[in-house]
Amino acid sequence: MDAELLRQYLEYYDDLGIKSLYRRAGPPSPAAEAAVSAPGTPQQATEPLFQILEDIGDCRRCRLHQQRTKIVFGVGNEQSPLVFVGEGPGADEDAQGIPFVGRAGQLLTQMIEGTAKKEGIPLLRKDIYICNVVKCRPPDNRTPEPDEMQMCGQFLSRQLLAIRPKAICALGATAAKFLTASKEGVTRMRGNWYKWNDIPVMVTYHPSYLLRAYNVSAKREAWEDLKKVMHFVYD
Ligand code: URA
Repeated sequence: MDAELLRQYLEYYDDLGIKSLYRRAGPPSPAAEAAVSAPGTPQQATEPLFQILEDIGDCRRCRLHQQRTKIVFGVGNEQSPLVFVGEGPGADEDAQGIPFVGRAGQLLTQMIEGTAKKEGIPLLRKDIYICNVVKCRPPDNRTPEPDEMQMCGQFLSRQLLAIRPKAICALGATAAKFLTASKEGVTRMRGNWYKWNDIPVMVTYHPSYLLRAYNVSAKREAWEDLKKVMHFVYD
């Protein structure tokens, strides 16, 4: 790759919001090279998700690796037209290596399947794809730091480019911030459409927030948001 093409790639990654890149030990796989086409050329091939997982490997690129048990990559239908993006794994997810399997995950499953059923959309959790901005559990479930989001976010970006869903649902502030770069709070952003690389993004509350007893109206609003995104994707 010559310097000009490299510059174009870097500019393109920058536009995607990927600010940190790393050097792999060996030459890049053809699939990884094909995943992001150079600016101005049509997207030809997308890399398979397993390639991204392979590139993550036994990741030690940021401090979050130090206390993790399992990397939590993503789960569900790799061809799903709808992808849910959360913040990062909690204790249950860290133990099992699967996103949204704890209390918040159970609520998310209920929300997805309950909303779909009520709206007459034949959809189960397994039919959609779920992942997070960071793949390792932040200690004490703290919010991921900007440098951790940037480092790990390149893998989320590659996952989304590989799946190319019709819409993305951002769960909570961390996912909303990463995907839209907006500085607004979730309360203002929820229920509205944004874009990530031309893919519509619906922002809604994180299920952990909805688990707090005082958030009764937020629950109703989140259901409204889910209805909106589901009708957009499946009607
Ligand atoms: N919260 C998240 O943001 N992601 C998970 O996978 C679990 C809880």
